[in-house]
Amino acid sequence: MNYKKIDFKSNYFDLFELVEGIYAAISKNDSGASVSAGFFDLGNYLIVFDTHIYPGATHDLYKAIKELYDKDPSFIINSHYHSDHMFGNYLFPENIPIMSTPLTLEKIKEVCCDQLKHFRETADEEILKRKEMLKSEDAPFGEIEIYNDLEFYKYVKDPNFNIRLPDFLIKDEIIINGTKKTVHLIPYGVGHTESDIIAYFPNEKICFMGDLLFADLDESWAPNETGRFNAVNPSNLYKILKSIIEKDIEIYVPGHGELSKKDAVQMNIDFIKKYFIEQ
Ligand SMILES: [Zn+2]
Repeated sequence: MNYKKIDFKSNYFDLFELVEGIYAAISKNDSGASVSAGFFDLGNYLIVFDTHIYPGATHDLYKAIKELYDKDPSFIINSHYHSDHMFGNYLFPENIPIMSTPLTLEKIKEVCCDQLKHFRETADEEILKRKEMLKSEDAPFGEIEIYNDLEFYKYVKDPNFNIRLPDFLIKDEIIINGTKKTVHLIPYGVGHTESDIIAYFPNEKICFMGDLLFADLDESWAPNETGRFNAVNPSNLYKILKSIIEKDIEIYVPGHGELSKKDAVQMNIDFIKKYFIEQ
């Protein structure tokens, strides 16, 4: 499938038009904002899929929508509760509803509010560390990531910043039949988190996967002291991916990493099988 990179400047992501009206914001490796998000124009509805954690990335996503469509999104989807996918909710006007599963709402209340508290408490210390890093020859992060972190910590220190909770809760699949495009919002049960939503376009053969899919799983993610792979229920995630791979999809937008094809889904299935099912 031919998709094209849009001429849009952001320190955080590259913007791709997958087909007319369906956009994926794929994070840049050196930005620290590793999450990929997107937005889609169904004709009469404009929908945002995930809102990032860095305020600058959320601002850029919103700016891209305004530049392309000159209007606000109709609503926002939070694919799951992890803060890197939903902290940016707050930067969208309150009259734009946010949609998630009921379990995601519960987890945001349970986990993310504490995370914000932690970020606030450590902000001054982290800002100092980052400023030192800017002077250091062997900083653990690149300069762009350090500046993005500085902006993030300054932002969470602002007492006006808060967690914005989802407003519309979906328990089952809903199909939004827009005037130009139709999207299926499909919630899954426990897997990566307690529940995750995908946005599936059957006609365009595109699927926004959230963190049900990682584009670059390799052995460094293996479950050991340093492994980064993180799933609440790997065997259920395996079943979810086995059912998604049966669908006729050509482009998968992963939660982290580059635009993917079916082989990436298979790679995730094989990884989970190797490290969690066959153990
Ligand atoms: Zn996640």
